[in-house]
Amino acid sequence: MGKVDQISEDVVIFSRKIFGEDFVPLHRPVFEGNERQYLVDCIDSNFVSSVGSKVSEFEELVAAFTGSKHAIATMNGTAALHTAIKLAGVKPGDEVISQALTFVATCNAISYAGAEPLFIDVDIDTMGLSPVALKRFLAENAEKRKNGTFNKTSKKKISACVPMHTFGFPCRIAEIAKICADWDIALIEDAAESLGSYVGSRHTGTFASMATFSFNGNKVITTGGGGMIITDDAELAQRAKYITTTSKVPHPYEFVHDEIGYNYRMPNLNAALGCAQMERLSDVLVIKAQLADKWNKFFHDRDINFVKAINGNIANHWLNSIILDSRLDRDEFLTMTNDNNVMTRPIWTLMSKLPMFKNCQTDGLENSLWLEDRVVNVPSSVPDGALKKLNR
Ligand SMILES: *Cc1c(COP(=O)(O)O)cnc(C)c1O
Repeated sequence: MGKVDQISEDVVIFSRKIFGEDFVPLHRPVFEGNERQYLVDCIDSNFVSSVGSKVSEFEELVAAFTGSKHAIATMNGTAALHTAIKLAGVKPGDEVISQALTFVATCNAISYAGAEPLFIDVDIDTMGLSPVALKRFLAENAEKRKNGTFNKTSKKKISACVPMHTFGFPCRIAEIAKICADWDIALIEDAAESLGSYVGSRHTGTFASMATFSFNGNKVITTGGGGMIITDDAELAQRAKYITTTSKVPHPYEFVHDEIGYNYRMPNLNAALGCAQMERLSDVLVIKAQLADKWNKFFHDRDINFVKAINGNIANHWLNSIILDSRLDRDEFLTMTNDNNVMTRPIWTLMSKLPMFKNCQTDGLENSLWLEDRVVNVPSSVPDGALKKLNR
């Protein structure tokens, strides 16, 4: 038996031991708290749609958890990103720096704002935007003028930068923030995957003027579908609430809207789910850390590279990740495990290879290409009954 065959078989056996004999999903939600009760409360109150007390309650819980002054709930993470990018001052025709190694939502949101992404390489160890690559790209390709930073080749304004904390591993966000400040480029953190991840004692998403989260069904906690913008800036918070609520001018009965707005509000039903999920978030993070420990030992024993947070940062362990030796090994591992009903997934196809982004400017993307061939996620759910055991 080859090395990859053996490891695939071991992963199947180990996954079944931890998660049960049937189909093992990559990441499933857990509803073992007050979810049902809060949903019933919502229905009984008649407030199931975009007005209701659960929305502001959920916003306050997320603001408090992340240590932000304000949080604005939205219908999904992509809508939150679109809103934040627009409020950062990105205009149609601008360029926005991001990673080629990210989920497509990051780049879709940049496109919704009428801007085009520029793809900069990631670091191998964080799988997030590389400050070294960012600095080099700007030094070679950008010039700073009175009204901002411009791309010397395309002549377009580089108005924002959207790094992403891949699978919940914090990227070098403090260094990135410094470079963006030096170049007068707005910074927005796509923290969709990193609720519960910290750089030192600071929650991811608090290094930029705005950051966004996702509460899609596969994330650390879920509202069914949902997103959130966090910011310390009261004016940005007010603007975010306003344009995601159809830009309606407050009035007891008149319908007046003074700019193009969006119906990006989170319904009260989804927020109810979010409130119950927030009550369990700290416990979920403890269990996920224990699971990551087990996977770490498992892969260490088999001489496989298991991804960890750098410099003592804290990852939420959303998706446990390994780095295999080659594309061939990766494909073999994916086929073997999925054929045996244990769900594993490769990292994303680089954005720069997708038809709608294939003409966007990139740097060499050396690390992104290397990781694309090798990174695989293994089952990362909170196991059945683990939360109950923790609280006993
Ligand atoms: C999940 C996710 C989003 C937002 O996704 P939604 O499904 O719209 O909530 C954005 N960026 C990244 C990196 C994500 O993983």
